[in-house]
Amino acid sequence: MTPSYDVVVVGGGPAGAAAALALAGRGRAVLLADAPGGPPAVGEALPAAARTLLRDLGAAATVPGDGHLPCYANRSVWGSAVPASLDGIRDPHGPGWHLDRPLFDRRLREAAAAAGAEVRAATARPAGRRADGWTLTLHGGGPAAGPGAGVRCRWIVDATGRRAAVATTHGARRLVGDRLVGLHLVLGAAPGPVDSTTLVEAVPDGWWYSAPLPAGRLLLVTFTDADLPAARTDPRLLRHRLAATGPTAARAGARPFPPSAAPARAAAHTARLDRVHGDGWTAAGDAAAAFDPLSSQGILTALYTGRAAGLAVDAHLAGDPRALDRYAAAVADVVTAYRRNHATYYGLERRWPGRPFWRRRHPTGPDAALSRPADPAAAGR
Ligand SMILES: Cc1cc2nc3c(=O)[nH]c(=O)nc-3n(C[C@H](O)[C@H](O)[C@H](O)COP(=O)(O)OP(=O)(O)OC[C@H]3O[C@@H](n4cnc5c(N)ncnc54)[C@H](O)[C@@H]3O)c2cc1C
Repeated sequence: MTPSYDVVVVGGGPAGAAAALALAGRGRAVLLADAPGGPPAVGEALPAAARTLLRDLGAAATVPGDGHLPCYANRSVWGSAVPASLDGIRDPHGPGWHLDRPLFDRRLREAAAAAGAEVRAATARPAGRRADGWTLTLHGGGPAAGPGAGVRCRWIVDATGRRAAVATTHGARRLVGDRLVGLHLVLGAAPGPVDSTTLVEAVPDGWWYSAPLPAGRLLLVTFTDADLPAARTDPRLLRHRLAATGPTAARAGARPFPPSAAPARAAAHTARLDRVHGDGWTAAGDAAAAFDPLSSQGILTALYTGRAAGLAVDAHLAGDPRALDRYAAAVADVVTAYRRNHATYYGLERRWPGRPFWRRRHPTGPDAALSRPADPAAAGR
């Protein structure tokens, strides 16, 4: 017999795990399918405010200790050459974390399983839709699932990340606001005490981010627009650009570069769906709205929208006709606040008004249209 669930959550990152946790907590039969591999694990920072969300999810034990590093302060060189620092001691939630991302995601999926969700390492694809629900095929997921095994469900949560794989093939359109990409590289350990701060440094073609990783390594990411020369993954260009920075170069200075040292490139643009629910599906996390990493809000938003989507789908299946619209309004509020903050922070950096990267992000500049969501095709992806 074909296994049947109330909900299949497609994607087991923070959004999918949070949705599965919320649904299982409400007694729903839920399958959480996560394709092995996942997105590149960059080594993200999680703000301390996540404590409240993780507690609400019943996953409070996911973060402390466990290989993640505490983040006590955020340093920046932004809007002026004078470095500024924001100490975590001023945050009522306490310090944030530099995450071991694969471990964090795995712990969240384990918490979902402990709450009653069935968790499988499998790629899930909708194969058919009828009035009473969906059939999906699962690829991978161990011998029990079999090759291309089928499952049924009443509802799908699309938590597939930036691809929004279910929503965009079932009536939703992805709106893209810019062309930001991150080129990332991990540098080896250096002797001496660990500097536990994050550092953001603005430069003429974008900005740099650096943060410690477990085992004394350092994450270096340079953000720029995909169409600018600085986006080339040429190791020599990267080292040349790094040498032109201030505190970022000083921090990287003593560390060994990996021999090939070619950075990997990841999409980091602002994007959202034109609708976050449709006929039999609801989107959460990056699938619903993906943010510029400058905000440091990606994982927090994925946890928040994942949980909210799970609760909304549960209420909808229980007969509440407004639950999904309330969820859509909550996501719209998050996006509005994000866009306000995005404009404020980019507006603070005025040192290079003639450079395309900054001109595109200053609303009065000639390229202001790029700061508004546009058709993905028009944005060149
Ligand atoms: C360079 C860079 C730096 C960043 N830095 C930060 C930071 O410092 N702090 C922060 O909070 N955020 C940061 N972010 C953003 C953060 O990574 C994302 O917001 C977050 O991962 C979104 O979580 P998610 O669960 O929505 O999606 P994802 O984490 O992308 O997870 C989606 C999952 O779905 C799976 N999947 C996809 N398709 C299928 C399918 N058909 N079947 C089954 N599974 C599927 C994938 O394998 C993946 O595991 C950064 C992003 C980038 C690109």
